Amino acid sequence: MANTTAELEALLMQRSLTDEQLLAAAGAAEDFRILPDAAVIKIGGQSIIDRGRAALYPLVDEIVAVRKAHQLLIGTGAGTRARHLYSIAAGLNLPAGVLSQLGASVANQNAVILGQLLAKYGISAVDGAGLSAVPLYLAEVHAVIFSGMPPYGLWMRPAPDSVIPPYRTDAGCYLLAEQFGCKAMIFVKDENGLYTENPKTSKSAKFIPKISVDEMKAQGLHDSILEFPMLDLLKAARYVRQVQVVNGLVPGNLTRALAGEHVGTIITAS
Ligand code: ADP
Ligand code: MG
Repeated sequence: MANTTAELEALLMQRSLTDEQLLAAAGAAEDFRILPDAAVIKIGGQSIIDRGRAALYPLVDEIVAVRKAHQLLIGTGAGTRARHLYSIAAGLNLPAGVLSQLGASVANQNAVILGQLLAKYGISAVDGAGLSAVPLYLAEVHAVIFSGMPPYGLWMRPAPDSVIPPYRTDAGCYLLAEQFGCKAMIFVKDENGLYTENPKTSKSAKFIPKISVDEMKAQGLHDSILEFPMLDLLKAARYVRQVQVVNGLVPGNLTRALAGEHVGTIITAS
């Protein structure tokens, strides 16, 4: 190990930061998961939170019960209000970075709402999930709420052909899970998982219990239930090599998924 570190240091001092040998040496360091016992769950914006009480109250009960056995990082989606903002701002020709800031404000609102619902159980919403007191919250009350939008803001990398920010709350929650080396990433939405077509508009859509990123792309499903850049993030992941999409309108699904059961659709990196 000492040799590797010395070699890495020499390379870092002398080479370009994109040098192949340097990159290989930097990637060879032993794995270290920051929060290996935590699971990230994303509560969908349009699919769950926008439904209000009917969808949120049962989920709150489930979260409160299940956190006894699991540490939960709970991220919020944005949803319909963000889509409304995107449509106004895009109509005014504002850039992706501005739309990103606008969308983030809605995911923040949803974190505030969820924070009020979970407050009496001692579960707090944090301004940034980037660490700070997050490990303490997880250790003490087993849960913390964060806004799912990644904080790129004005520095959002724009898509080549659109001002809609490509990295939104699916990506924001997933990146947190991957960077922290969490044990699971579960997306809580309003369908049983991935189908061959959008089940909201197609009656003949068939359920897909398990699929890889490459298979999704081959079947033209790259732009369906998850933000499409997420699939490439998943494929390149070091730690979180699969994600699960579950129907949060069905009580018990989240609990079963956290227990490692195959509910919903599992999407794998390879
Ligand atoms: P969130 O609330 O987390 O942002 P979305 O509403 O963006 O979730 O994504 C979930 C929606 O994706 C579902 O409600 C469904 O209508 C839609 N969808 C599109 N294509 C598919 C598909 N092939 N399988 C399942 N859902 C799909
Ligand atoms: Mg979405």
